[in-house]
Amino acid sequence: MIIAIDGPAAAGKGTLARQLAGALGYIYLDTGAIYRAVAKSVLDAGDDPDDVRTAAAHAESLNPSALEDPDLRGEEVGDAASRVAALPAVRDALLAFQRRVATTPPGAVLDGRDTGTVICPDAGLKLFVTASLEERARRRLEELRCKGETLILPQVLAELAARDSRDRDRQIAPLRQAEDAVEIDTTGMTPDAVFRRVLCLARERLMLLEGVPGRTMR
Ligand code: C5P
Repeated sequence: MIIAIDGPAAAGKGTLARQLAGALGYIYLDTGAIYRAVAKSVLDAGDDPDDVRTAAAHAESLNPSALEDPDLRGEEVGDAASRVAALPAVRDALLAFQRRVATTPPGAVLDGRDTGTVICPDAGLKLFVTASLEERARRRLEELRCKGETLILPQVLAELAARDSRDRDRQIAPLRQAEDAVEIDTTGMTPDAVFRRVLCLARERLMLLEGVPGRTMR
C-alpha cells in the first residue's frame, strides 16, 4: 500500500511518516528533501533558485544520495526549496523518481505537499496533516535551535507563513487537501498520539484493501 501524507511545513508529517514506515516495514520517502536537495545544489553553485533552466538542470542531475545531506534542514534551503518547487520543469524532472520509490514493494510512505494529489493519486491511504501556524512555528524553532541556528519566533512564524502561501498559491501542484484524504490536526497532540491514531487508520485500510495487514502494495 502507498500512504501519502501531505500538509504545510512543520505540521509533524516527517516524524509521523518515518514512524509509520518503520512500523509497517515500508520505505519512507521525504519528498521535501528532494526539493531541498535541488535547492542546496542550486545555492552551492551560486545559481538563482528562481531561474527555471538552471534549477531544472540541477533537478535532472540530482543524485539520490544528496537526500541524506544533514545540511538540508536550514531555513535558507527551505525557502529556496519552495522557490524551485514552484517551477514546472523542476517538478517534471523529479516525478518519475518519486513514483518509482512509491511503488517499491511491500509499500511506501511519502510525505510532502502533492503526494496524494499528483504523485500518487491512487494511494491506499491519504492524510492531510495540519497544525496551527503558531504551533508549527514553535516546533520549527525548536528544531532549528537544536541545529544551532539562532532565530526568534516572529522570524520563523513569518518565514513559515510566507512559505505556506507560496506553496498554496503556486500554479503547479499547489498544497491542498485531496478530496479523499483524512485530515489530522496535530495542534496540541503529542507525536506519539498522532502516530497511534494513524497506525490504527493504516491497519484498518490495509484490512479493507488486502485482508492481510502489511503484506502487499496498492
Ligand atoms: O517539507 P519541507 O519543508 O522539507 O519542503 C520544502 C519545500 O519543498 C516546501 O516548502 C515545498 O515548497 C516543497 N515541496 C513540494 N512538494 C513536495 C514536498 C515539498 O513542493 N511534495
